[in-house]
Amino acid sequence: MKAPAISVDVHHHLTPDLRQRIIDDVRARMQEPSYRLLSPEHLRELAQLDTGGPALTSLYLQLTPERRTGRAWQTALSALAHTALQLADNAMQKMVRADIGEIERALNDQLPALGRGAAFFVCRERGIWRQIALPIALPDQIRIGTRPYLRPMLRSWGSHDRTLIALLSREQSRFFATHLGTLEEIYRVKGQRIRGMLTDRVPLDRRDAVAASIIKDEAKALAAMAELINREFEASNILLSGSPEMSAAFRGYLSKHLVDRITPFEASIHASPVEIAAAAAPVQQQLRLRAEREVLEALREAVPGAASTGTQETLDCLGAGRVLKLVADDSYVARGIQCRQCQRLFELAQMHTCPCCGSTLLEPVDDLVEAALQQALDRRASVAFIREPDYRVAFAARAPLQALLRY
Ligand SMILES: [Zn+2]
Repeated sequence: MKAPAISVDVHHHLTPDLRQRIIDDVRARMQEPSYRLLSPEHLRELAQLDTGGPALTSLYLQLTPERRTGRAWQTALSALAHTALQLADNAMQKMVRADIGEIERALNDQLPALGRGAAFFVCRERGIWRQIALPIALPDQIRIGTRPYLRPMLRSWGSHDRTLIALLSREQSRFFATHLGTLEEIYRVKGQRIRGMLTDRVPLDRRDAVAASIIKDEAKALAAMAELINREFEASNILLSGSPEMSAAFRGYLSKHLVDRITPFEASIHASPVEIAAAAAPVQQQLRLRAEREVLEALREAVPGAASTGTQETLDCLGAGRVLKLVADDSYVARGIQCRQCQRLFELAQMHTCPCCGSTLLEPVDDLVEAALQQALDRRASVAFIREPDYRVAFAARAPLQALLRY
């Protein structure tokens, strides 16, 4: 699908109306019911969803290149449907069958162009339909419940995993959002052709001044757009490609918050998404390493009480709502226990009563990290992953789950 485009020039200033239209467009683009990258706000909205009774089907399906040839995905989908229907009781089977039928129709119509997999959250009875492009291939699975099963997705949801890319030129400017390497064009802005405007009517000695003022106007509009898009997407970095004069003018109108996040890189304004992703990849890798290093330093240098150091201590702080940023070793997998009464999480498998509330309603958790991530999402804590193998070794020596605390 083509990115929406607007024109900003002397005849089309960035009026409040136009500004609102862009916000609405960007928001709609991230929430429309086709295959989209997920915005953080959208993820939080999913986490709040509860049907209050009817079954909601959560389905994760890998769509690797092998799965996309010869409709190989269909076999995997049938297997998932079979598993789900075996587990569901009679009343639920009808709902689940209808949900899966809907998913199959959507995939038959069109496979998502983006990503290495797709997630679906569907409840026909409540009119709920969400399809999301996944940047990494997560294991196939299906869950039936009253709330979306988001845990598998949360491992790809670190605060350093999203980047905004801005390509600026006088003729047109383009904005892209990336999530772990999956890249989508969000907006395209047509600028004005300055040469065409500097006709004989503008005296020769005024042409430089006029050209500079046109660039300034355009940069101001583009900066406002970058702010809007970033507010929706919450990117950790902006990669910027453009001529020195255009880039300088653009920076001049950005808030300090965004200026501090800019890293220059080079890509042609006419490049394809694949070419842009390839040009951005090495820069993103460097930024990710730096961000991981900074998180590790913040943990190491935190005064006592400002960071949790043990895994169980981290889980306790998370349960108490004290965590500001949860930091997880990306490769860590462990089972655990969750109290159904107070929702607290525990490392130990040998427990009969909850040490926090005394309840005996304890249930095993297959993946403690995913459960902790879900809790971080519910409590509006941010999440950072340590993915670099060398850093992981040093980090996990203390504990694979740590946190910077609010208090
Ligand atoms: Zn409890």
